[in-house]
Amino acid sequence: MKKIYGIIGDPVAHSLSPVMHNAAFEKLGMDAVYLAFRVSKDELEDAVRGAKSLGISGLNVTIPLKEKALFFVDAEEVAKKIGAINTIDFSSGTPIGYNTDGIGAKKVLEETVGEIKRKRVLILGAGGAARAISFYLDAEGARVTIANRTKERAAQLASNLHNAKSIGLSAEFKKHIKDSDILINATSVGMHPDEDATLVNADMMHPDLVVFDIVYNPMETKLLREAKRAGVKKIVDGVKMLVYQGAASFRIWTKEEPPVEVMEKVVRDALIRD
Ligand code: NAP
Repeated sequence: MKKIYGIIGDPVAHSLSPVMHNAAFEKLGMDAVYLAFRVSKDELEDAVRGAKSLGISGLNVTIPLKEKALFFVDAEEVAKKIGAINTIDFSSGTPIGYNTDGIGAKKVLEETVGEIKRKRVLILGAGGAARAISFYLDAEGARVTIANRTKERAAQLASNLHNAKSIGLSAEFKKHIKDSDILINATSVGMHPDEDATLVNADMMHPDLVVFDIVYNPMETKLLREAKRAGVKKIVDGVKMLVYQGAASFRIWTKEEPPVEVMEKVVRDALIRD
């Protein structure tokens, strides 16, 4: 029987996950389909129960449901610490929750810089994605600084990590960029339709900084354009993280190795067409 997977969120029509996972199913010749379901926060509990009753095999969870969804699943320990899930697996009967966002970001950085241990990482943002990423990098032994518009949120996040500091987005933040090996934008600044927005300009960067923007729409954000202008040698867009977090969900659900090149190609093609 055809297996059904999907993504729940609100809004969800823009999601690239259906095109990415359906391409993977097709490449592997699997009898499966991945759909997008618009679900509000109020409908979330019914949606998770309904998915289980209908025999849906797995779900991704996106904005604004990632935190609330924790209440309706048995979550893995890491996801509990992060305080959010983006993946539900129904294969054991009980819905099990996972968070694969941090796994995706960690893999991207390992491919870009090798070992993360002791690297000085400045993460912009203290929302759901920043929490997931900072948790994984901190666990790898990176020296993480969280910089957030709402300073209290940055302090709260840093206090839950082993070796992290927090700052606001003021003058001290510019000095921190000069002293960092890796800069990660995990805010929504620069995302479509505000494509000319950035928190960091070329004059604040140095060429040896690795600049990673997790925003993937547009693929080349203003931050990445500024990084090019500053002569930064290692620039990473958000598509690979999207693909790697999806690939990690795919492995959890299917126990198969996903075709990541195919997944990345269809996502990049879809973003170019947009
Ligand atoms: P979120 O929980 O809503 O957090 C948003 C963050 O952005 C907060 O830290 C917020 O600061 C900050 N922010 C928003 N507007 C700002 C502004 N004008 N100036 C300064 N800071 C601002 O969102 P999220 O789930 O973490 O997602 C963040 C971004 O990452 C989104 O663009 C999302 O599409 C992207 N994302 C990408 C991937 C991927 O796989 N590539 C995965 C997950 C998310 P305050 O705390 O002060 O409000």
